[in-house]
Amino acid sequence: MIKTYKYRLYPTRKQTKELEWTLDTCRILYNSCLMDRNRTYEQTGKSLSRIDQQKILTRDKKNTLYLTNIHSQVLQDVLFRVEKAYKAFFRRVKERNSKAGYPRFKSFGRYGSFTYPQSGFSIVPGRLKLSKIGHIKLKLHRNINGFVKTCAIKKEIDKWYVCFSVEYEPVPRQIPSKTVGIDVGIKSFAVLSNGMVIDNPKYLMWAEERLVKKQRRLSNKKKGSNNRKKAKKTCAVLHKKVSNQRKDFQHKLSRELVGNYGYIRVEDLQIKNMARNHSLAKSIHDAGWGQFLTFLTYKAEEAGCHVEKVNPRNTSKMCSVCGYIYKDMTLSIRKWTCEGCGTIHDRDVNAAVNINKPLRQELPEFTLGEISSMDDPIDNVYALKSILSLNQEARPIIDG
Ligand SMILES: [Zn+2]
Repeated sequence: MIKTYKYRLYPTRKQTKELEWTLDTCRILYNSCLMDRNRTYEQTGKSLSRIDQQKILTRDKKNTLYLTNIHSQVLQDVLFRVEKAYKAFFRRVKERNSKAGYPRFKSFGRYGSFTYPQSGFSIVPGRLKLSKIGHIKLKLHRNINGFVKTCAIKKEIDKWYVCFSVEYEPVPRQIPSKTVGIDVGIKSFAVLSNGMVIDNPKYLMWAEERLVKKQRRLSNKKKGSNNRKKAKKTCAVLHKKVSNQRKDFQHKLSRELVGNYGYIRVEDLQIKNMARNHSLAKSIHDAGWGQFLTFLTYKAEEAGCHVEKVNPRNTSKMCSVCGYIYKDMTLSIRKWTCEGCGTIHDRDVNAAVNINKPLRQELPEFTLGEISSMDDPIDNVYALKSILSLNQEARPIIDG
């Protein structure tokens, strides 16, 4: 399995210049490779491959000596990135994605990292040794477990980091037998099927509010002015902070869930689809549900747990006890009483309980006669639901 370790770097002023120069030279190389590909295609109708570009680069290095001031594999990695951008573009075209944007040229400051894909770097006590750059002070705040495969140098606003991609063998452990369903909360971050409500942390909400204010102030500043530049930087710093805080919260939460449950069921939200309609959009984006699912999924995989994405249709509208469907459910209804069985439901908890049910396809099919002869009320509930699902085309659920 692959894991990334990120550490802060403390380059000297001279080293910072070297890093900046390397980064920008990689950016220029990236752009010129894009341009070569475009031009060749326009002129000949054929595409340049990465191998073709590798040959061009080797030839160019003889004429442009400054390229020899960068570790050769770092330059090669740029070609890999160009190839990746093109592959992604062709894939989007194939999928008929209407936003199949062409690979973009990177403007100054828009190229954030360069990578040593195999060699050219090593960790010596307190320092990271980079070929052609030097020994940079490094804060190794936690130990690396496993085999380091690649080393990426990253610039974020005005700070430098190193990211090691590390291959390791996960340690087997006892997987908890408990299961849980998680519903995306509207007011809170998430609600669990055991009734637990997970709120967005206060510090995060405050920071977000501050960010909104700062951004508003930024938009009032005159274009090109020094004040605008300053405001822009403050915004960027705060933005980074909010994003880090959010990540931190989501890492902790996903770690805890994976530690306590062996089987986790979540809503399979088509985030993009949801974002298009009404006010829910903002809260979902802010909650960063997609990012959370990414964290949860890879942590679960690492720990040997299962994450199942469940179709969210009707999970809010269906009574989790008897299967009755409350057709007039609107977003504003937080609590409701089931007309079928009289249970009083909290909207989100009920949804989470529904999410935490085994797939309905696994349910046997019954006739009404069979149901009336059943003794076990639990069987009854499942049987009723299987009938409901037959009557409502495969799945008994409508949007909600
Ligand atoms: Zn009910």
